[in-house]
Amino acid sequence: MLTAITGINWGDEGKGRMVDLLSENYDIVVRYQGGNNAGHTVMNHLGKFILNLLPSGILRPEVINVMGNGMVIDLAHLWGEISKLREAGVNITPDNLKISDRAVICLPYHVSQDCLEEERLKDAKYGSTRRGIAPVYGDKYMKKAIRMGELLDFLALKERLKGIIDWKNLTIQQVYQAPPIDYSEMVAWLEKYTVHLKDFICDTGLFLNQAATEQKHIMFEAQLGALRDIDFGIYPYTSSSSTIAAYAPVGAGIPNHKLTGTIGIMKAYSTCVGEGPFVAELFGEEAETLRQAGKEYGAATGRPRRVGGFDIPASRYGVRVQGADMLAVTKLDVLSYLEKIPVCVAYSVQGKRVTEFPIGEALNQAEPIYEYVDGWKCDISHCRELEQLPQQARDYVKYLQQAVDCPIAYISVGADRDEYIKVK
Ligand code: GDP
Ligand code: MG
Repeated sequence: MLTAITGINWGDEGKGRMVDLLSENYDIVVRYQGGNNAGHTVMNHLGKFILNLLPSGILRPEVINVMGNGMVIDLAHLWGEISKLREAGVNITPDNLKISDRAVICLPYHVSQDCLEEERLKDAKYGSTRRGIAPVYGDKYMKKAIRMGELLDFLALKERLKGIIDWKNLTIQQVYQAPPIDYSEMVAWLEKYTVHLKDFICDTGLFLNQAATEQKHIMFEAQLGALRDIDFGIYPYTSSSSTIAAYAPVGAGIPNHKLTGTIGIMKAYSTCVGEGPFVAELFGEEAETLRQAGKEYGAATGRPRRVGGFDIPASRYGVRVQGADMLAVTKLDVLSYLEKIPVCVAYSVQGKRVTEFPIGEALNQAEPIYEYVDGWKCDISHCRELEQLPQQARDYVKYLQQAVDCPIAYISVGADRDEYIKVK
């Protein structure tokens, strides 16, 4: 099995939670894109963990975790994350964590550049997590990035870094009028983390290819969701990487293998952190109650998430671009307080009813068309079988399934590992 676990919406659907659960049946979990802008929450008998860079299989001792070539890695952040997990008793060694020699390094100057640009944009800011993600992916495509494997040949790296910093300082000093990047500081930073991390770096493509050939079960864990994908999302308010399942074999390092399945993680309502068009957005008290009920505050940043009802045009589009074969609906329990559940069934664009997810100005101008379906008004977090759910909750799940035209295989009714229903 080569299975991608990807987000159908704007991220924060509960991917970490589902990867932690489903990785029981997998040998390897691979993160294939993004960086420490991710915040994947995992809650199980070991405690509560928010993973930014490490794959969510790291809490299962028998699972091997891979950080793929499609990722951008802030070395200081990664080392902090490893150290914190080790303190919590999680065993992390080069046997259960492998970092691609082709993954790109996010340096302190990428973080600075991210902040400088957001500040320059003022009110027109993108809502970046300010963790350097856009500048480092930009550098990757400009062929000015540094890859993990270069840490293993430090003399050559030092030479190359000189030229890169000269180039980068043209932007930092002349565009942003900020103090220049100090070359020796960067060398020291890289040297420090090389000592800690060098043993984890290897040709993960070779490792995964071997594993796939031996019929090992590999899970590909995406960051963010379809609507934040660089190509298919709400550009330019997207992330800077490919969040879609089709990219998983490339970003993981085995473009010669095909996925055998894609499980889309879809939230029972909508949330969106950061800027950009979010048609189904609710405001005022209705929004505040939903935000509180779902504890919708960014896992990576603590920012309050924007919230709305389930968005059918956006989610159906998300299912399509992810190529999901089946879905896990998460956070159904959060809606338990509602008499009537709001659902955004279509958009109104200049007076016209639109059901396909639009782009550009049409998206910016879109107004939600809301309908209400019956709620169940009771606690469902103890339910473990479909039959135990109240009729209205079953109807709601069936309604979502028909709306996005994809089978729902899992229903999550709580954040803990065992709080879910497997639909037979
Ligand atoms: P990710 O980025 O997709 O991994 O999702 P996040 O971890 O950022 O956000 C999901 C949040 O919802 C986390 O706080 C989870 O612990 C929590 N969560 C996940 N599934 C459920 C669920 O079914 N019910 C409830 N109440 N919380 C959930
Ligand atoms: Mg998250």
